[in-house]
Amino acid sequence: MKNYYRKYVFYYVLCVIASGCTGPVEETEAPKNVILFIGDGMGPTTVTAARIFDGQSRGKSGEENVLSFEEFPHVALVKTYNTNQQVPDSAGTATAIHSGVKTRAGVIAVSPSVKRGSCAESLTNSLPTVAEIAKAKGIGVGIVTTTRLTHATPATLYAHSAERNWENDSFLSASARQGGCRDIAHQLIEFKIGDGLDVAMGGGRREFVGSDLGGLRQDSSDNLIQKWINQDDNHQFVQDRSELFDIDVSKQVLGLFAKSHMTYIAERTPDSVEPTLTEMTVKALQVLQNRENGYYLLVEGGRIDHGHHDGKPGYAMLETQEFARAIQAAVDIVDLDNTLVMVTADHSHVMTIAGYPTRGNPILGHIVSNDSQGEPRDEPSLDIDGNPYPTLAYINGPAAAKSEEEWQFRPGLLEIYPSLVAIPYQEPDGSTTYDETHGGEDVALYAVGYGSELVGGVIEQNKIYNFIAEVLFNDGNL
Ligand SMILES: [Zn+2]
Repeated sequence: MKNYYRKYVFYYVLCVIASGCTGPVEETEAPKNVILFIGDGMGPTTVTAARIFDGQSRGKSGEENVLSFEEFPHVALVKTYNTNQQVPDSAGTATAIHSGVKTRAGVIAVSPSVKRGSCAESLTNSLPTVAEIAKAKGIGVGIVTTTRLTHATPATLYAHSAERNWENDSFLSASARQGGCRDIAHQLIEFKIGDGLDVAMGGGRREFVGSDLGGLRQDSSDNLIQKWINQDDNHQFVQDRSELFDIDVSKQVLGLFAKSHMTYIAERTPDSVEPTLTEMTVKALQVLQNRENGYYLLVEGGRIDHGHHDGKPGYAMLETQEFARAIQAAVDIVDLDNTLVMVTADHSHVMTIAGYPTRGNPILGHIVSNDSQGEPRDEPSLDIDGNPYPTLAYINGPAAAKSEEEWQFRPGLLEIYPSLVAIPYQEPDGSTTYDETHGGEDVALYAVGYGSELVGGVIEQNKIYNFIAEVLFNDGNL
């Protein structure tokens, strides 16, 4: 891409040699675009399982199936650790991707010197993000997610915070409030670099309004959505699928389609008014393709992660399947000669694919293995307790053990692997359960389109930023 400058000098010299020339020949490089798809928690095991699930949902055996992004020509492996954690969280990993600097778990676009929760340290140590640099250059920026728009991964584009949980002002600590730190929803609405975010779509309405409108903001009459709309005639707000279909794609759009996270695919009813990830992605691209200096679009399949945390592999499979659909829809729309499309995960999960199911065995079912002649048995395989066991299983969380007592029935496990047991959290009814955790192995990065040949090898996660910067800003330090 630095060839542009060489070409420019070449044409300039040619021009000077030619008689009657008064200046360099004008040559402007066509604008470039980058779309980054982050499957939150979509580790390699999830991709394999989702590939089989997707194939089986079409009546095939499944193992031979190919998800849309698995056809991309360039692949790398990505090391996901945070600066202070071997197994990362989404705030630290998405900061690495969007600022080029690895940082601590739990913080949003601030440097690793900032202790989690330290408002004072965060105010003087924020990291410039892809969105800020892009908007300062007149490049369009869009965010699409199935989580709350204020959740960790999307927040790393437009906010800086010492604590990912400061999604609205009632969640700010007293010292953060006194220290002048602002909540993440406020920072989204106040993001005013250039003309601000072009597209922001997802869930999380409750973070933007007070209790008068069913939200969580400290002041019951607060309404940040109205503040967004009131900026000028160019700002529009939508909150269901039919409104989304009717937007003016020449204007900026805020879409908040659910009070908290958007509904799991597995729990949507036929009359759901929430758009799918694919529908949001297509609409976002229609808006961004009007931006004459190119664009950056983040699309997060955010609830893959939540399905795993809940110990529900089927939920995670459905979310991954929809994520793959959204990627295919984007690739069908864009011009790959000027657009880099990358697909990755921020981190993995502790799900495994156990042996030895026979070929085509339902990926969400119990294991039925082959007999000594390699033919499928009639009965499921049994574990040491005489019970059938599933192919997809978790080492911790609700699908592994529902209570500490239950762990006691597995002699030695707590003593040998105490760190494998998730931190218990309190349910609203006071009961204690376990949240399944992230996994620490490398995740994959798939790339196609302009500049995708840069992607390869085993890389640190913050290098993804360099790929984005090289294509969008001609400044990737590669
Ligand atoms: Zn998670």
